[in-house]
Amino acid sequence: MSLTNAPQVYLVGAGPGNPLLLSKKAERCIQRADVILYDQLVNPFILQLSSPQTEWIHVGKTPYTTYMRQDEINALMIEKTKTHQTVVRLKGGDPAIFGRLADEVDILKAHHISFEVVPGITAASAAMSQLHRGLTERGVARNITFTTGHFKDNEESSIDITTLKNGGTLAIYMGVKRLPKLMQEVQNEVEDDLPVAVIFNATCVNQQVIAGHVSTITDKIAALPERPGPGITIVGHVVRDILEEVPVLSQVDYVCIKGKRSNCMEQAMDIYEAGGWAIIDDREALTLHPTQVELLDVLIEKTSFTHVLGEA
Ligand code: SAH
Repeated sequence: MSLTNAPQVYLVGAGPGNPLLLSKKAERCIQRADVILYDQLVNPFILQLSSPQTEWIHVGKTPYTTYMRQDEINALMIEKTKTHQTVVRLKGGDPAIFGRLADEVDILKAHHISFEVVPGITAASAAMSQLHRGLTERGVARNITFTTGHFKDNEESSIDITTLKNGGTLAIYMGVKRLPKLMQEVQNEVEDDLPVAVIFNATCVNQQVIAGHVSTITDKIAALPERPGPGITIVGHVVRDILEEVPVLSQVDYVCIKGKRSNCMEQAMDIYEAGGWAIIDDREALTLHPTQVELLDVLIEKTSFTHVLGEA
């Protein structure tokens, strides 16, 4: 079957960072991409599913800084459709949850560019899978609200805690920095000292779970030696008594595999399956697009690998 009618742009959810949690569709889009515009939270290894010739462009937005403005990302995406057949806009988690999806869809529509949206596993779902809990639970929480602790232009505004008042679950994205203020708001409005869990780097090698209650979580987070990476906060009875159930990661392997991408992919996936992190160093084996060399140079330089392997 030919793909001649394939859309020009795919707005793809990359999931929480673990490449095994990519959808099959996302993987196929990445494999077909001529250019990938990727966000900060995308694991660079996922980019290695693309062709060695694919152009990789970081349009990273971290929660508290903006590397490229949204209108610049939009403009770049449109520009790339003029020179490349398949453009993949790769976003962390699900593009439809705090992913500025509407902005990008609107601009594509305005330019009459064909596109498709590919959902991804959102951070809240990823986090709960690690806690062995549901975001909803029969008899415990009948609803769930996704909210954010981060606001446009850093304006102060309160989170929507209606859900908590109704006994539901609140998932707070981008809220770790503002946690003291957010927890204070919850305390002011909700009588119960509800259970809270903050999950950093959910499903990834450096995953970390901090559990407590609305009254205690802020101090526990403040006591961490450093902020471990992106974290999602879950408030509500669904995260009661989770501490003892938190999985302990048995293996913290950071592996560099030297060789051709196609030959190393399975080996790398096995490492992820075992709970580790891997990247393929194919800078010598293949002629890569300069943008790929650039990223690999920086990444391989700054990572302390526990193992450096060759092709199996
Ligand atoms: N579209 C993304 C969310 C983008 S906003 C999604 O659906 O998941 C970025 C925020 O998502 C981060 O500040 C953090 O709160 C959360 N997040 C993303 N990946 C995460 C991960 N692996 N673990 C924990 N939180 C994560």
